[in-house]
Amino acid sequence: RDQLAQQTRELTDRRAQLLAGSYRLFYREPVHLVRGQGQYLYDADGRQYLDLYNNVASLGHCHPAVVQAVTEQMQQLNTHTRYLHERILDYTDDLLSTFPAEKDWRAVYMCTGSEANDLALRVAQAHTSGEGVIATAEAYHGTSALTSAVSPALGSGQPIAPTVRLVPAPDTYRTGIADIGTWFANQVQSAIDDLRAHNVRLSALILDPLFSSDGVLPGTPGFLAPVVDVVRRNGGLIIADEVQPGFGRTGERFWGFARHGFVPDLVTLGKPMGNGMPVSGLVGQADVMASFSDRLPYFNTFGGNPVSMAAAQAVLDTIRADNLQEHSLHVGELTRQALRDVAARHEVLGDVRGVGLYTGVELIEDADGRVPDAGLALDVVENLRRQGVLTSTAGPDGNVLKLRPPLAFSSGNVDWLAGALDASVHEAVTNRRARAGS
Ligand code: PMP
Repeated sequence: RDQLAQQTRELTDRRAQLLAGSYRLFYREPVHLVRGQGQYLYDADGRQYLDLYNNVASLGHCHPAVVQAVTEQMQQLNTHTRYLHERILDYTDDLLSTFPAEKDWRAVYMCTGSEANDLALRVAQAHTSGEGVIATAEAYHGTSALTSAVSPALGSGQPIAPTVRLVPAPDTYRTGIADIGTWFANQVQSAIDDLRAHNVRLSALILDPLFSSDGVLPGTPGFLAPVVDVVRRNGGLIIADEVQPGFGRTGERFWGFARHGFVPDLVTLGKPMGNGMPVSGLVGQADVMASFSDRLPYFNTFGGNPVSMAAAQAVLDTIRADNLQEHSLHVGELTRQALRDVAARHEVLGDVRGVGLYTGVELIEDADGRVPDAGLALDVVENLRRQGVLTSTAGPDGNVLKLRPPLAFSSGNVDWLAGALDASVHEAVTNRRARAGS
């Protein structure tokens, strides 16, 4: 124990000396991971954790199909997209078969979700000759200058571009509004009107169809239809940021936008696409993509290389072979049933919502007020870590537990999670009462 604490201190100190201050660690007592397998992570002490946070290793940590595909391709060839190679074509064929068949699609590959969104914004601006972008109030879309300027989740230090308008996310729980689709469309219409009043032409609405960093707000299927109409009537494009909901995570459909029955102009892919290999993509309607590509080349040194494509192919193959989309739907439902049972015992658990293996749990002050309680949420996250469950928070008030395990998370893991949440909330509430009383 002492040795482990000493090692943790040493690594933390070395980080402070070597790495830029932009890096943030999770947990008051940071976790030092050395190994991962499926839905489990292991620390330097050999302790097993249930991973509720990593939708990047979406099939599961160190998935053998991905490890094998990457290793074999790495032993053969890895180079860029200026030579002919089958892998990128075979993968694209396969990927595009998951897109709405009524449109003609084109794909570009890069390494991060940020790059995919950055290019999507540039393509949208080229196609519409507009600069104006609308995003949600706690969105996160990336690290580049363009994408961070539409990422209010970065906090007050991040300037939002003057051509960007932020709209409140469609949160039925907090607003109490039943017809959230119409309400959301009205918010976006007002933002478009404001852009117009400032002589800014609309280029795109960019949204994560799960509104994950806005607090996990999947809503009912189809509720985004009115907002799509509003944007199109005003000459704008829709960019669906599928970095979070994509690749079967929602269980209902392969893509988050497909749950809502609309066809985006541009779709960005990331995190789960390569199960941990840095692979991302932009898929767009052919005429929209041409507005950019007719004028400008796009070359990404590592994007679309055969090793990355091998990883991405193994991911698609495994999702299909193991029916992971159905698995996500089924186990996600079981998870929320179990968590709702826990919530029934704690008035500070205000809402349990989600779709597939993506769940948000609201921590509130008491049952009546729905007042967000970020402090309690943080205490619960710390307590969960002691129970061997790793997760974090989301939402504008930082009070929503964000549960998105690798899809390897199974029905056999639900009890561990539910028991850990029950104990963690109990402990947090008891400690708070004790502090208030002392
Ligand atoms: N979009 C969304 C919705 C994201 O959640 C993220 C990453 N958290 C990104 C884009 C950026 O992806 P990356 O970190 O790979 O650049």
